[in-house]
Amino acid sequence: MAPEQFREIGHSLIDSIADFYSHLPTASTASPLLPDAMRQRLGKREMPEKRTNIAPVLDKFSKLFFEHSTHNGSPRFWGYITSSAAPIGALADLLAAAVNPNCGAWALSPIATEIENETIRWLAEFMSLPGKWDGIVVSGGNMANIVAFIVARKAKATWDIRAKGLTAPESQRLAVYGSGEMHTWINKAADLCGLGTDAVRWIATDKEHRLRPDALRQAIEADRAAGLSPFMVCGTAGSVGTGAIDPLPEIAKICKEFDLWFHVDGAYGAPAVALDNASADLKGLRLADSIAIDPHKWLYAPLEAGCTLVRNRDDLHDAFAFKPSYYQFDDNEGQEVKNYFEYGPQNSRGFRALKIWLGFQQSGASGYRRMIADDIELAHRLYDFIGQQELLERGTVSLSIATFRFVPVDLRKRSMEAGAVTDYLNELNARIATALRLSGRAFVSNAHIGDRYMLRACIVNFRTTLADVELLPRLIVELGRGLDARFRPAALK
Ligand SMILES: *Cc1c(COP(=O)(O)O)cnc(C)c1O
Repeated sequence: MAPEQFREIGHSLIDSIADFYSHLPTASTASPLLPDAMRQRLGKREMPEKRTNIAPVLDKFSKLFFEHSTHNGSPRFWGYITSSAAPIGALADLLAAAVNPNCGAWALSPIATEIENETIRWLAEFMSLPGKWDGIVVSGGNMANIVAFIVARKAKATWDIRAKGLTAPESQRLAVYGSGEMHTWINKAADLCGLGTDAVRWIATDKEHRLRPDALRQAIEADRAAGLSPFMVCGTAGSVGTGAIDPLPEIAKICKEFDLWFHVDGAYGAPAVALDNASADLKGLRLADSIAIDPHKWLYAPLEAGCTLVRNRDDLHDAFAFKPSYYQFDDNEGQEVKNYFEYGPQNSRGFRALKIWLGFQQSGASGYRRMIADDIELAHRLYDFIGQQELLERGTVSLSIATFRFVPVDLRKRSMEAGAVTDYLNELNARIATALRLSGRAFVSNAHIGDRYMLRACIVNFRTTLADVELLPRLIVELGRGLDARFRPAALK
């Protein structure tokens, strides 16, 4: 592509992206098309054998993409913990792709590597982590947690687990602990690393969905007595279901007592520790050996951007470094550099840190603190509005996640009844979530609290206003009434 053509196509694309941004507040949160209709709309093309004039292709595709995507940038998108992305991040990704540094080695990405180092330092500083933390930028929360898991496994295994694996004669069966509300990354980690998912101990939680330290202690002692080797505890700082924060200081104490690796999954909630009114439980993440944080959530970087932070840089290096003979990256005249391929599972790496680094400069730490505090405030206001609706039942509110459900007035007294009533309410609320999504007016997801299917609004969105959250309870009631009239089984009428 000639530079002149790039300029022309690029300007026109930037213009349409700017229009897309300005329409986000009024655009549908999601396309009304079901999968078959979506495939039909998209059509099918043969793999092109010959070159095509790309400008019209890009133009046509971008229009379709803008119109029929699920817009997590909409102010009324509160599904899952998928945030609105800051426009500066889109420019950062474009710039990173244009220069295309390979952030595997310093010599291939001198400036980008130094910026990634600085980004990691800023993330640690934002959370006021004590001492000299280090880390690596990865694709997201799952990878950030899995990388920490691999580090913990190497640090705590009593034999050379990297060379000898899990079946050496001197090996022991490893066990890892976390609350029943832990994210499923832990299953992937245990599976990928060959421990098997049976190595995961899902510890009982209290009424607020937080790990129970007494149950943790019991499980560790029982495993030790049975000859297993407990090696890691994962505390959650903002659970994916309800935003629950485990009692991290107590978990830290238990880890110290039993010499276990203390990891905190802060993919969602870790940035909230920067707020003045952060709870003592949340501040306990500063006692961890490793933390997973997800800048593509509450720091508003576009996908993908996660980060593993470790208290001790050597632990990360020890878990991943290999020195292939074909890499000659140490000849910087004796000056110290970080070659990221030695600090994580990837070899070639893109410049994901740039969007985090630019985001930090655009908003400043104070801007992030304000945006995070606003989201938490909006979730609580939403919870108040829900409480004012006779047909809505409140579940939980923690950090910026509120859970609730629609309960027809005549079923209200029986709403906790197991069996037919619970089944019907679960089905009804699942229908409401789908109908709301397809309506394009707002987007919520769900959480399970005991047997109850709850609607879940997760506000990780700097575009959301008070008027947006005020609208949601009314939309749910309107849809709930209609769906209840259509689908109520005769036995419950
Ligand atoms: C989102 C989330 C994850 C997974 O992060 P991805 O970026 O989706 O891979 C893990 N743990 C928690 C607590 C999360 O909220």
